[in-house]
Amino acid sequence: MISKLLKGNKEFVRDIFNVEHLERFAKGQHPHTCWIGCSDSRVPENLITGTGDGELFVHRNIANIIPAHQTEEGAVLEYAVEVLHVKQIVLCGHYGCGGLTELLHGVDHRTHIGHWLRHGEEALHRLQKRPGFHDLPRDEALNLLVEENLHLQRSNALSYPFVRQAVKNHDLQIHLLIYDLQTGRLHKLEERAH
Ligand SMILES: [Zn+2]
Repeated sequence: MISKLLKGNKEFVRDIFNVEHLERFAKGQHPHTCWIGCSDSRVPENLITGTGDGELFVHRNIANIIPAHQTEEGAVLEYAVEVLHVKQIVLCGHYGCGGLTELLHGVDHRTHIGHWLRHGEEALHRLQKRPGFHDLPRDEALNLLVEENLHLQRSNALSYPFVRQAVKNHDLQIHLLIYDLQTGRLHKLEERAH
C-alpha cells in the first residue's frame, strides 16, 4: 500500500504543488482554525470543509477528545492558541463514531483504547442519568453520546487557562460541529452556557 501513497505524491507534485505553494508558506504557517477531529478515515477535514493546506491546524484522535488540563496533554491547543493565534477551535464529532460506540457498549480499561476513552466517560455518565436513556435504540443513544461528548470536550478545552483567557478576550471562539456520514453535511451544535 505504500506504493499507492508514493504514487499519489508524485501526482501531487506534478499536478498541484507549485511555486505559489512555496511562496505562500515560505514564512511559516498562519492557519485560522485549530481542528480537533476524530481519526476516522471517513472524516477528512480539508475535503469536507472545502479548505486547503495552510488553513487548518489539525489534531485527530479517537473520538475527538481533548483531555482536561491536568493531564498535561495540551500541546496542540497550546501551540494553536499561544503560538499560531488561531481564531477558532473547531471540535468536530461524527455520527457512527466507532470509539464512542465502544464507550457505549462498555470498554476494557486495560486496553489502550479503553484507557483513552475514559476522557469521554463523563459524557456517558451524564446521559445515563437522563430518564429513558437506557430504553433508547442503540443508534439514537450513540447520536446523543456523540453530541454530549462534544459538550464535554468543549469544557475540557476551556479547562486550559490560556484557552479560557483567549475566549474571554474575544480572541478565540470554540465551535462544535457534527459530521453526518450519510449525507456529507456538517451541522453546528448549539453551545450550552458554561
Ligand atoms: Zn469517530
